[in-house]
Amino acid sequence: MTYGKMQLYTKILIGMLAGVVLGLAAHHWGFSAFVLTYVKPVGTLFIRLISMIVVPLVFASLVVGTASLDNVRELGRIGTRTLVFYLCTTVIAISGGLLLANLLRPGQGLNLAIKAQLLQQSEDQVKTYEETLADKPTVIDVLLDIVPRNPIRALVDGNMLQVIFFALMFGICLALMPEAEAGTVKGFFEGVNAVMIQIVHLVMRMAPYGVFALMAAVIADFGVGILLVLFKYAMVVIVGLCLHMVVVYPLAIRLLSRVRVPAFFTGMRPAQLIAFSSGSSSATLPVTLECVCETLGVPLKIGGFVLPLGATINMDGTALFQGVSAVFIAQVYGLDLSLVQQVTVVLTATLASIGTSGTPGAGMVTLAIVLRSIGIPVEGIGLIFGVERLLDMCRTVVNITGDACCAVVVANREIELGTGLLGKDL
Ligand code: ASP
Repeated sequence: MTYGKMQLYTKILIGMLAGVVLGLAAHHWGFSAFVLTYVKPVGTLFIRLISMIVVPLVFASLVVGTASLDNVRELGRIGTRTLVFYLCTTVIAISGGLLLANLLRPGQGLNLAIKAQLLQQSEDQVKTYEETLADKPTVIDVLLDIVPRNPIRALVDGNMLQVIFFALMFGICLALMPEAEAGTVKGFFEGVNAVMIQIVHLVMRMAPYGVFALMAAVIADFGVGILLVLFKYAMVVIVGLCLHMVVVYPLAIRLLSRVRVPAFFTGMRPAQLIAFSSGSSSATLPVTLECVCETLGVPLKIGGFVLPLGATINMDGTALFQGVSAVFIAQVYGLDLSLVQQVTVVLTATLASIGTSGTPGAGMVTLAIVLRSIGIPVEGIGLIFGVERLLDMCRTVVNITGDACCAVVVANREIELGTGLLGKDL
């Protein structure tokens, strides 16, 4: 992706570094309020602009993608491979997190006074989590809820699973109809899809400034002191995320696709930077789609299905974070998790990460479910609030990279590098 002479990626990176510098200066010289009031809105504007495209883009790209499938069996094959891949990488992520946390024991030796202080600071926040968990739907309700009663409402509310379900049915039926009848509607959605991609291109010109503002606001608002207190815990999560990123995905790409690993990571850079600064897989989705389908050449019929689904249900980074956090909190409370409890963590964190929406901080709410399943007080979440934003940014990068890796693997032989269907060269 080149915008102007300099690579977009380079511009975003410069924006990010400049934002960090401004944020640190604001923190140091006490003008954080200024940054939060006047600079942050630029970042919020950027996020709103890309979020604005998500629903129409997902709907149009799914319809166009499914309508171009040769038969329903092909969709079944893509769907099965996608779900298996998502499930396996999620389980590997949690297991990796648990392993690291058990080996490095980040929760051991946390000062009691600090523990009490951390818990007290986050009391109100924890209460809202407990309230959210109170009206817990059953698994059957969750499954039934994938089918929208009213697809227009699903689009309006941005209920992704419902949008995906309706778009798939719409696309499949278009594919089943004779071309004479389906042609106009297909053409219309191809047009909508192209317009949305054009908007992504336009909005991405603002990315360096948006990222600058987002980073400045995060750093200005972030207490560096808390990072020192929770350093060991934060490091275990970050090391786990890095290992997952440099071992699991490259291996999968190497063994299961024809894409070269460096090409994959180079192509994904813009999306990773946006994911890092926004902390939202959902908001990043238009950029992820562009990187995967345009730069990496994954056909839209695969990327258009795998990526929106992934941004909704596949959260490897979140899962790993939940594994480490459960062990950390247990260790601070002086509890040693038995093997059965750790297996329970693997199961519940898999489900919890599926249920986590691709929005900032969503993984903390579902972490409460994991803690509850193994009998750890939910208030323990309060211990990690201080570094939550930073870890959210890091795990979101892994979340979207996992989705992209799956798209590349599922597309496998169909990838023709540089010939993505999403758009023309910029
Ligand atoms: N922010 C993450 C995402 O959008 C979800 C989470 O909170 O873990 O992917």
